[in-house]
Amino acid sequence: MSSPTAIDPPDCRCTECIVGIYVSLAEATDSQVAAMLRGDLDNHTGLTFTIAVVYELHPGQSLAQAQPTEMSVRAADRTWALDPYLLGERTLGGEGSRS
Ligand SMILES: [Zn+2]
Repeated sequence: MSSPTAIDPPDCRCTECIVGIYVSLAEATDSQVAAMLRGDLDNHTGLTFTIAVVYELHPGQSLAQAQPTEMSVRAADRTWALDPYLLGERTLGGEGSRS
């Protein structure tokens, strides 16, 4: 079975989900949810996702240099605690920020 190309609604039992072309949100792994959020997997869920990111600011840093340390993603009464770096390395200031 190859990896799925899309995430379907949580309780989906369509043929594609059964044979593994798609995966239901209820059965998706953390890395599949992260891939969907990146746009690498199609989002068929029809759901609104709420994403909260916690940034850490060390002594001497400005807000633009803050590093993300936690990311929680909520949808359909479920919460995923994802590694913020699954979505790529980011700071509040971004890669091209002036210093
Ligand atoms: Zn399905």
